[in-house]
Amino acid sequence: MAKRDYYEVLGVNRNASKEEIRKAYRKMAMQYHPDRNPDDKTSEAKFKEAAEAYEVLSNDEKKTKYDKFGHEGIRSGFGSQGFTDINDIFSHFSDIFGGASIFDDFFGAGQRTRRRRTGGAPGSDLKVNLKLTLEEIAEGVSKKIKLKKLVKCDLCKGTGAEGGTSTKTCPVCHGSGEVRTVSRSVFGQFVNIQPCNNCNGEGIVVDNPCKKCRGDGRIQEEVTVNINVPAGVYQNSYMTLRGEGNAGRRDGPSGDLIVVFEEIPHEYFVRNNDDIIYDLFISISDAVLGSEVEVPTLKGKAKLKIDPATQPGKLLRMRDKGIKHLNESGYGDQLVKINIEIPKKVNSKEKDLLKELAEMPNFKSFGNKDEKNFFKRFGF
Ligand SMILES: [Zn+2]
Ligand SMILES: [Zn+2]
Repeated sequence: MAKRDYYEVLGVNRNASKEEIRKAYRKMAMQYHPDRNPDDKTSEAKFKEAAEAYEVLSNDEKKTKYDKFGHEGIRSGFGSQGFTDINDIFSHFSDIFGGASIFDDFFGAGQRTRRRRTGGAPGSDLKVNLKLTLEEIAEGVSKKIKLKKLVKCDLCKGTGAEGGTSTKTCPVCHGSGEVRTVSRSVFGQFVNIQPCNNCNGEGIVVDNPCKKCRGDGRIQEEVTVNINVPAGVYQNSYMTLRGEGNAGRRDGPSGDLIVVFEEIPHEYFVRNNDDIIYDLFISISDAVLGSEVEVPTLKGKAKLKIDPATQPGKLLRMRDKGIKHLNESGYGDQLVKINIEIPKKVNSKEKDLLKELAEMPNFKSFGNKDEKNFFKRFGF
């Protein structure tokens, strides 16, 4: 079967720009991707054909040869390599899809593991601790943090190769990243599989390493990351920002950024799930006569009514003044625990009044009926 013209395959004209060629290929690759057309031989053939056309037309040297001599001109270069496996196409062209994740996004995570076989080593995860006040937790907050991480080298676009063009499949392992050696002994035949030394198991080698990243494809940089913290997070709970960790070596997939939340102890409040507890101290007279007092809340001061005869230890509930529930609507409450403040010293007039008060019927120690009965039983 005669080979189709590469420009025709991609549906572009002969003076199409690099970007037009790239876009055309991307469109075809998406359309004929085998994951979208399972067991469809025609689609697979078109997918391979487009990949082959792009391989030539995206490479200046090969394109020039092809333009001059047609298919004959590039037979020696491309033909010797060939694509035997769909996955080889992915490893060759991962750059066009922005490296790490576009295939994952479009075609599911299954592709990822397969592509890792020949792509650069994945980047490591990063962990940061993020301190939050109770006020921030109560409503959620957007925070900017600075961190140092490995990012894709801008000079070589993550390929590790100078000029961004001269990576090639490792000639030793043919892109598999592994080398098999077979040895025979009296016990039989042994197959030993080891990572390829020539490419460090990556399946790709670089002829001229990029000067900026020394062939690694990534550089250390300080970046600002925006973190949207949802309301209601807990001490030591965390969120994972996919792909925000260290960039992978030579365009390998990026790691994740794990943000661990830390709660800063509050001046007034103690958290109990989504409720907050506040210890309120009131005077004896306020407890007996009732009063209206001001209490702090997470959103400023609020008035709180104290009923007459309020007992120490009583919990007053201020509805919806607590923390917003995580992932559901509604708020916790603010619980105000009543404490009676006993004066540490009294002057002589206060002392006299208290003594007088102590003799009054409602201030006698045995004012409690149950207690009276209790003591009666023992003959008091
Ligand atoms: Zn570089
Ligand atoms: Zn190798």
